[in-house]
Amino acid sequence: MAKTALPVLNTRPSKKEDAKPKKLRVLYNCSKCPAYCCTYEWILVTRRDIQRLAKGFKLSYEEAEQKFTKDIEDYGQRVMRHRKDDIFKSACRFLHPTERRCTVYEHRPAVCRAYPEKSRCGYYDFLKWEREQQGDEDFIPLQR
Ligand code: SF4
Ligand code: SF4
Repeated sequence: MAKTALPVLNTRPSKKEDAKPKKLRVLYNCSKCPAYCCTYEWILVTRRDIQRLAKGFKLSYEEAEQKFTKDIEDYGQRVMRHRKDDIFKSACRFLHPTERRCTVYEHRPAVCRAYPEKSRCGYYDFLKWEREQQGDEDFIPLQR
């Protein structure tokens, strides 16, 4: 399968290890979303991301790498570890299961800081449209 077709959260510019967030007018509301972006199967992490997590949790680089990330051998990248999720099949281990927020916000990977890199989030537009169709502002499409 082509890398672009894989379930990968990777919005980083290719020439920089960490993306710098752009200042955009935001047309989505993460507080109303069940955090689709945190359920990408592969949420890519860099060495710098692991260093940041290690520092935040007062662990060694190796400990943080082992505890929080896993290697995708065929892809040649490390990704965030997942855990089972009550809404979707699984989610990033740092997503709060009921509050649907990041529990390591200050130490989150660069890819999480950069996403969705635009004023709009496609997931949020989809969520909003579905909720309007259902007449239910709490409706969650694409559940497992
Ligand atoms: S999927 Fe979009 S709206 Fe939902 S939490 Fe992620 S960035 Fe926010
Ligand atoms: S680190 Fe935080 S923002 Fe990034 S995927 Fe995990 S829960 Fe979501």
